[in-house]
Amino acid sequence: MSKIVVIGESREGELRNVTFEAVAAAKKIDADAEVVGIICGNGDLQVQGEEIIRYGADRAVTVAHEKLENYTSEGYGQAVLAVIQDESPDGIVMGHTSIGKDLTPKLAAKLGTGLVSDAVDIGADDDNITFTRPIYSGKAFEKKVITDGLTFVTIRPNNIAPLEKDESREGKVISKEVDITDIRTVIKDVIRKATEGVDLSEANVVIAGGRGVKSDEGFKPLYELAEELGGAVGASRGACDAEYCDYALQIGQTGKVVTPDLYIAVGISGAIQHLAGMSNSKVIVAINKDPEANIFNVADYGIVGDLFEVVPKLTEEIRKMK
Ligand code: FAD
Repeated sequence: MSKIVVIGESREGELRNVTFEAVAAAKKIDADAEVVGIICGNGDLQVQGEEIIRYGADRAVTVAHEKLENYTSEGYGQAVLAVIQDESPDGIVMGHTSIGKDLTPKLAAKLGTGLVSDAVDIGADDDNITFTRPIYSGKAFEKKVITDGLTFVTIRPNNIAPLEKDESREGKVISKEVDITDIRTVIKDVIRKATEGVDLSEANVVIAGGRGVKSDEGFKPLYELAEELGGAVGASRGACDAEYCDYALQIGQTGKVVTPDLYIAVGISGAIQHLAGMSNSKVIVAINKDPEANIFNVADYGIVGDLFEVVPKLTEEIRKMK
């Protein structure tokens, strides 16, 4: 039986959904694997340890330290490395999030191992486990196999469904002490810039506005639609550059990558750099007054019209359906 470690990620004391997706990914790599969750933070992490077990981990190791209150690659690097060295796993899985993208290559280099990043699917091919990952900004997919030894895998949020939560599932939560030293980065304050509510990179529904929205005021109908659909609001760089919204909302090559079930692009032309961040969404709806806009080439459903008429009507119809 193999052992796979899952590096958990939490926000404001709660594990992020991508952590549970990473547990499911570990089970896809080896259904019989012993899955060990690592949770780092400050204070009592018992509840988070129990939560990862309810989502399929067999046990959890927590590392609590005041220097782990906020993520720094030095602090988390030391904590996670200590647990990996204790556990000697056969594989390590984490979300392909900002933290996952920062932490895993560093640890892989330190341990002299490989890294398969941004996997969107895990399957079997002959005797090998295959990892599907997008390349060329999502225009093509490649399949990778691991031929030898310990490897890190990061998974793109919203692609591998978490296992069903089992409230009765139990396992050991072990607290490990790690001496965290030599932290050169000091986080003095964390200022949240993103929108309230649903996390953009994990949202199942994203309503994204572009330069066509014309002002920050113009984003209001998008927020109303997002609220009806339980989604998050995103943006093109065009809208961010025009200061209609914060850069934390930017989706694309130099912004966030999202894979929601439903992506509604509102007043976005569909530049290649924007498509890089959303073209793998399951269903894409485009609202644009220009029938020639490139966004219609990737859209499953297109609405040619003025967004200021279409979006409120859409919200109204959805309200009626409730
Ligand atoms: P525009 O291209 O101006 O499109 C606005 C659209 O709104 C038009 O199609 C128009 O028909 C429509 N419209 C206008 N009024 C209405 C209305 N009333 N009703 C309906 N539709 C209307 N872009 C990103 O998005 N993300 C990135 O990460 C990113 N990274 C980049 C990295 C680099 C290195 C470079 C060079 C560029 C990057 N860009 C990125 C910028 C990208 O090339 C585009 O400039 C940008 O995506 C355009 O934003 P937009 O579609 O909102 O604006």
